[in-house]
Amino acid sequence: MSSVPVAVVTGSNKGVGLAIVRALCKQFPGDVYLTSRDPGRGQAAVAQLQQEGLRPLFHQLDIDDLQSIRAFRDFLKDKYGGINVLVNNAGIAFKVNDTTPFAVQAEVTLKTNFFGTRNVSTELLPLMKPYGRVVNVSSMQSSLALGRCSQELQQKFRSDTITEDELVQLMNKFVEDTKKNIHEKEGWPNTAYGVSKIGVTVLSRIQARLLNEQRKGDHILLNACCPGWVRTDMAGPKATKSPDEGAETPVYLALLPSSADAPHGQFVSDKTVKPW
Ligand code: NAP
Repeated sequence: MSSVPVAVVTGSNKGVGLAIVRALCKQFPGDVYLTSRDPGRGQAAVAQLQQEGLRPLFHQLDIDDLQSIRAFRDFLKDKYGGINVLVNNAGIAFKVNDTTPFAVQAEVTLKTNFFGTRNVSTELLPLMKPYGRVVNVSSMQSSLALGRCSQELQQKFRSDTITEDELVQLMNKFVEDTKKNIHEKEGWPNTAYGVSKIGVTVLSRIQARLLNEQRKGDHILLNACCPGWVRTDMAGPKATKSPDEGAETPVYLALLPSSADAPHGQFVSDKTVKPW
C-alpha cells in the first residue's frame, strides 16, 4: 500500500473541476486523481495537463452510478488505505431556455447534484484520513433559493438538528411535488438547480456535525462552497471568473493547513464564510 497522500476531484475532465486538479497538481504534496464518467474525456484532460508539465492520475467515476463509486472506493482503499482530500465538484444544470418539462429537470438535476454527491459521500467519507479535507462544490444559488423557500422550509434547511434522512425526504418531496405541479404551493422556489444546491449545502452542514460527533479527534474539515460565476460550459462565456479563478476557493478549503480548526461545516464564497 502506498503511503503517499491522495486527493480526489469528481467531475474534473473540464471546467472548475479540471482547474481544481491543475491547482492541486501544483500545490498538493501527493497523488491527484482527475476523474471523469467518460474515460475518453478524462484521458484527454489528463493529456492536456501533461502538456502543461503536470502529472495527474486518472480513474473513472460516474457519480450517478453506485457500482462506479464503489469500484473507485475499493481502488482507493486498496492502493492508499484512505483519502486525504475529497472535492465533490461534479454537477449539472439545464440551460435557462431548455424546454425539458420542469418535473424532468427537477428529477435529473437532483439525481446528480444531490443524490450522486450524497452517494459519493456515503462511500468515501468513511475513508477520510485524519486531517482530511472535504469540499462540496455548491453554489450561491443555494442561498438565493433558500431565501425563496417558504418560512417553514427555510426553518428546516437552517436547522442544526435536521438529519440526513429528513433532508433526503425533503429532496424527494421536491421532485414529487414538481410532478404534481404543486411545488410552488408547497413552498418551493421554481429552480431545480437551486434546490439541488440547497441539498448540497445542508448535506455539508449535517456531515460536518456528524464528524464532530463521531470523529472529533481526527481534525477533518468539511465545507460547502461557491466557486463564483465561472466561464465554463455550464455558465457560459459571459461569466466573470476564469476556471483557475473559480478553483481558488475550493482549493483553499482543500488545502487548509493541519493547524486549522476552521472553517468547518460552513458555506464559503471568495474564501469567506457566508451566512446560511
Ligand atoms: P461544467 O463545465 O459543466 O463541468 C461539470 C463537470 O461535472 C464535467 O466534468 C461533467 O462531466 C461532470 N459531471 C456531470 N455529471 C457527472 C456525473 N454523473 N458523474 C461524474 N461527473 C459528472 O460545469 P462547471 O461550471 O465546471 O461546474 C463545476 C461545479 O461548480 C458544479 O457542481 C457546478 O454546479 C458548480 N458551480 C458552477 C458555477 C459556474 O459559474 N460555472 C457557479 C456555481 C457553482 P461531463 O464532461 O462528462 O459532462
